[in-house]
Amino acid sequence: MYNIVMLGSQGSGKGTQADRLAAKLGTPVIPVGQTLRAEVARGTGLGQAMAGYMDRGELAPSDMVYQVVADRMSEGDTLGGVVLDGYPRTLDQAEALDEMMTKLDRQISHVIYLEISKEEAIRRMSGRRVCSNPHCELNYHIEFNPPKKDPNRCDRCGSLLEQRKDDVPEAISRRLDTFMHETAPLVEFYGKRGILTKVSGEQPIEVVEKQIAQAVGLAG
Ligand code: AMP
Repeated sequence: MYNIVMLGSQGSGKGTQADRLAAKLGTPVIPVGQTLRAEVARGTGLGQAMAGYMDRGELAPSDMVYQVVADRMSEGDTLGGVVLDGYPRTLDQAEALDEMMTKLDRQISHVIYLEISKEEAIRRMSGRRVCSNPHCELNYHIEFNPPKKDPNRCDRCGSLLEQRKDDVPEAISRRLDTFMHETAPLVEFYGKRGILTKVSGEQPIEVVEKQIAQAVGLAG
């Protein structure tokens, strides 16, 4: 069974690749950042408690994120495997995930680390525009991937595009620092276990997609 963790800094293309891989495998993706934003948009107690951290580009407290991920992992559609996008992001979350998987009698089969330089990550995040419909959230880039129909609207659902609150320079730089200090150590953590593959995220989307498919043993 495929239970795959996607690692990579913001702007590495991990969300796009998580979607494509999950479609090939026929498993759901758990897009953790998007799931947390939906929680904030619904105005739940948990959402309100997490909103400030997220707007500033800081990590939300691990116990809150755990709750959201554990709830989602307990749903039946994850029984045949899952692609985790955005969890874990710290060593303590990786350990918590191990415990969660043990309890569920599952294990992480592969970890994909999408590598990109800090400069490229900044370029991609600064130009990113996201569909404002929380059920869509399709990503665009003003330069590399603009919408084809209307420059301000989502091609898929027609909603207005917006810049994420955390895609502004101060929050971008905070998120990249957090990635370096908190998330990058997971590369060694999973590397030692022999389940990690590094893939350069600075290649065309289709090339990255193919290399990821090969890494998990699909033809591509
Ligand atoms: P993303 O859409 O993946 O960039 O995530 C958006 C925001 O959600 C992050 O900047 C964090 O505030 C929060 N977040 C997402 N995943 C996690 C996580 N694993 N742990 C803590 N906070 C998270």
